[in-house]
Amino acid sequence: MSTTSEHPVKHLVVIGVGLIGGSVARALKHAGFVGHVTGVGRSRENLDRARELGIIDHWTHDIAEAVHDADVVLVAVPMGAYDRVFAELAISLPKGALVTDAGSTKQHAIDVARRHLPDPSLFVPAHPIAGTEQSGAEASFAELFEDRSCILTPEPSTSLKAFDKVKALWSATGSHVIEMDARQHDDLLAAVSHLPHLAAFALVNAVRKQGDEQHDPFKFAAGGFRDFTRIASSSPEMWRDIAISNRPALVKEIDALQAELVEMKKALINGDGDKLLKLFSAAKKARDEWLEKHGGSL
Ligand code: NAD
Repeated sequence: MSTTSEHPVKHLVVIGVGLIGGSVARALKHAGFVGHVTGVGRSRENLDRARELGIIDHWTHDIAEAVHDADVVLVAVPMGAYDRVFAELAISLPKGALVTDAGSTKQHAIDVARRHLPDPSLFVPAHPIAGTEQSGAEASFAELFEDRSCILTPEPSTSLKAFDKVKALWSATGSHVIEMDARQHDDLLAAVSHLPHLAAFALVNAVRKQGDEQHDPFKFAAGGFRDFTRIASSSPEMWRDIAISNRPALVKEIDALQAELVEMKKALINGDGDKLLKLFSAAKKARDEWLEKHGGSL
């Protein structure tokens, strides 16, 4: 291994070398934060490509083999694979090794870690608030996390030393690290991330179902449709897993969106332009303020 003691993390294992895992590995190598990076995944083609691109130094399909001398393990697989991946990594995780993740829902990650890890206090859950609708190592890039937030959701039992080291790791990717309770994170992200994805998928389906052989409604879709539905091009498997792992919060958010739509529908049926103007203006004001305050990101 080509590592030196100057690297805060000598051996990082990335399980799931996709958009997020690949981007973390790239950013940490670029920052000189990690020495050797081992990638673990299922697709030989993706892992070979990640090695060619210098994202990882070496790869294997075998999680237990990869982690046996790891300092830090990053789990960056879809939420639906967590149970299997944590069960396998627990088999040979060395004493004192830290584990972090990048999963989009945090209570599920904590529950799985508690179920499998020999010392769950060394698991520091994380969610980088950055991404694109692309998947795979090829789509990864070192700057993905620059000036974006990364939410850590430690528990009262999380080791302070582990927390500090994992915080330093995510900071080295260029992220601003924020700390939050896992349930609060899941409720918040259900509203601002998970619901928009479901709404985009639903809108595209609603339009798709109006088409037939003579009539293609997408032919007339323009900029507004493109902007609103960009995230409907995201990985369906990944979003199935996110939705399933955050069900109660997401169901509540769907109810809230439905209530808004019902209110707009009532105003339309009644020809109540004043009501519509009020609803549209309140939304425009909130969105404009968000853009102004946060530049459109957390
Ligand atoms: P991705 O599809 O680009 O990468 C996931 C990788 O995990 C793939 O290479 C896949 O082969 C691998 N994988 C799947 N199951 C596996 C298993 N059982 N064992 C080993 N490897 C396995 O997805 P991504 O966008 O990098 O997402 C990874 C995680 O990060 C997900 O949990 C997602 O919720 C979270 N996340 C995604 C975004 C985003 O915008 N894409 C943002 C923040 C967090």
